[in-house]
Amino acid sequence: MEELHSSTENVYYRRSQSRNNRCIIILTIVVAIVAFVVGILIGRYATCPEMETNDPVHGFPEELMKDADPEISKLLINGMNSDKIRQNLKMLTEKPHLGGTDENHELGRKLKEFWEENGLDHVVLAPYKVQLSYPNMSNLNYVELLDDQGNSMYKSNLTEPILTPEENKTGVVPPFNAYSPPGDIQGVIVYVNYGRVEDHEYLEQNTSVSVKGKIVLARYGKIFRGDKVKQAEIRGAIGIILYSDPDDITAGDVDKVYPNDWWLPPSGAQRGSIYIGVGDPLTPGYPATEWAYRKRDPNEYMPGIPCHPVGYGIAIELMRSLAGGVVPEDWRGKMNVTYRFGDAFQNQGWKARIFITTHSKVVTTYNVMGIIRGAVEPDRYVLVGNHRDAWVFGALDPSSGTATMMEMSRVIGQLVKSGKWRPRRSIIFCSWGAEEYGLVGSIEWVEHYTKILQARAVAYLNVDIAVEGNSTLRALGTPLLYRSLYSATKKVPNPNSTEVAAGRSTVYDTWYNTYPWQGYHRPEVKLPGSGSDYAPFRDRIGIPCVDIRYSWNKNKLKLSSYPMYHSVYETFYLVDRIMDIGFKYHTAVGQVWIEMARQLSDEVILPFNVTDLTNVIEDQTDSLLDRFGQLLSDNQVDIDLLRGAVKNLTNTVERFENKLEEVDKTNPYVVRQVNDQLMNIEKAFIDPNGLPGRKYKHHLLFTESSVDNYAGSSYPGLSDALTRIVHGDNATQQWEVVHKHFSVLLFVLQSAQSVIRDVSNFMYSY
Ligand SMILES: [Zn+2]
Repeated sequence: MEELHSSTENVYYRRSQSRNNRCIIILTIVVAIVAFVVGILIGRYATCPEMETNDPVHGFPEELMKDADPEISKLLINGMNSDKIRQNLKMLTEKPHLGGTDENHELGRKLKEFWEENGLDHVVLAPYKVQLSYPNMSNLNYVELLDDQGNSMYKSNLTEPILTPEENKTGVVPPFNAYSPPGDIQGVIVYVNYGRVEDHEYLEQNTSVSVKGKIVLARYGKIFRGDKVKQAEIRGAIGIILYSDPDDITAGDVDKVYPNDWWLPPSGAQRGSIYIGVGDPLTPGYPATEWAYRKRDPNEYMPGIPCHPVGYGIAIELMRSLAGGVVPEDWRGKMNVTYRFGDAFQNQGWKARIFITTHSKVVTTYNVMGIIRGAVEPDRYVLVGNHRDAWVFGALDPSSGTATMMEMSRVIGQLVKSGKWRPRRSIIFCSWGAEEYGLVGSIEWVEHYTKILQARAVAYLNVDIAVEGNSTLRALGTPLLYRSLYSATKKVPNPNSTEVAAGRSTVYDTWYNTYPWQGYHRPEVKLPGSGSDYAPFRDRIGIPCVDIRYSWNKNKLKLSSYPMYHSVYETFYLVDRIMDIGFKYHTAVGQVWIEMARQLSDEVILPFNVTDLTNVIEDQTDSLLDRFGQLLSDNQVDIDLLRGAVKNLTNTVERFENKLEEVDKTNPYVVRQVNDQLMNIEKAFIDPNGLPGRKYKHHLLFTESSVDNYAGSSYPGLSDALTRIVHGDNATQQWEVVHKHFSVLLFVLQSAQSVIRDVSNFMYSY
């Protein structure tokens, strides 16, 4: 039974097994066929490059997709050493180091050595041959008052008097305005307040005074000095004297001044360039290499009238000599004298004289560029920069920034050298050679490497002046960097003990408390003008940029600049003994800077918030249409098209940000794809044809207004043309500009949208 049973069973078993075998073979074939077909179908339809694809990518070392280590952030922030910043500043301010001089070249070589010693992978000294401007040191500039016989009744001092031994060095250039043409002119003086468009208009509409054929006296402040010269020149003035009024550079108390306090003494004068172009004047648009073609004719942005800067000790003598009507309240500064329009002197037949020997000279200027090579994406560059050239000692501008950058590069370089860390992307430290002459160092470099930077640059983090006051952080920047800026400032301890005692423990807290942004629950960041080296990165490449500094509280002190700005008194003593005892504000700025550099160079997904970008674009659109909406509509411009384009962009950004939340950070191709979209969105606003009439200003949204080089502006192309129309300046021609530029704006807004749409669905059908 058992056997039979077993045999039966056996038979059954054998049969069943052979049937099973057949099933398995058939099943295997079916599975294979199905798998094959499904495989084809997947290959055909399912590998659509949506960014939420979650397929693991095999064979890719996992550590290369590891996100940034928060421990590194602490190491970098805590590594910043205030004593070392102080030592750097002492070294940097030993001698004057004006752009194009041997002393500035020497500092460049020292910086190169410093970077090589501190772990940077590659350092170069990059020369550019550029046209700068200097006074004739054996025949100095001055301003003079002459009586009716031509006798000198008052002559300005040729140099600023020495107040501490620190200023007593060779190589100090006396006050001058770079790129002023040389000249020896005489005429009556007309006072024009700040020399802005509205000041001239006030004069034209409310007085019989004309600046035509006259010498203009204007106080520094409110707008870029070059724009003051231009406004005077286009109205026919023959020369211009710029001065610092105590109203704009002191708290009203003119007794406590340098070397006892940080206020400008009457003898201090603000040097500065009055060139309103940017970069080397002889090689516009191209790098000033040895073999570059150089223009012969004068540049259209060059001032055509002699210009000289003086302190209020001299300005008061000039003002006292003037006759004419008394100026309105808001034209009066704080000099102890009656402010008059002038157009005549108290004494008949008197004249003012401006004597200028300043001349242009082609010299070599050096940028120092140092790279830390990225571990995973060496072809993505986070740029960190500051200029090196100073009008004299430049203890604040720019050496407070350079001293801080040196410390930051040491901390990063040493950590890399130790083998503990290497950032995912490359960091490039930049020390620019001749910023004070019109961003010459940075522009030549950006022109030299435009193609590379357009493809590979991530962001540019500028600190020109690290410390110009000790109340709060102040920042200029484009919106994609706001997130990183806020996050970094929240991590940095507050350097001010009074603020800490008031419950504000971080740099962010004081900043927010001082400059809350209306409508947003965060501190205000203003759009940058062209005041420093961030401008070419924005204008030519369209990469996000910031400029940060510690500053005074603008709500409490109405200063036009920090008092000692561009004077001989910007010394190490001023910083060390008066402005930042212990260098804790320098350190705080350096900590924000280093943390931002870490986030941008090390986080797997770039920390850009595109919603911040569209918020700013929406605000700008509102502000443009508030001012000019009716005028545009009355002239057949369909403003709803602009509103619609902005709305569409905002909606696409919202979808993009949602997808970004779920992106697979372990897939290097997906990561590269979204990072490229983030890197390219702002570049959509770059138009190589430039803004109307401004060939080298390519950013159609965030470029400054054409009447003030310092200030950011909303839709600069439209608002400039519309402002001219409102002022009755060439209206027919300007309407053509408006109609054309309006359509260009619709186009770039749509381009931005294309950048962040799905990469296989970026086109439009009509
Ligand atoms: Zn500067």
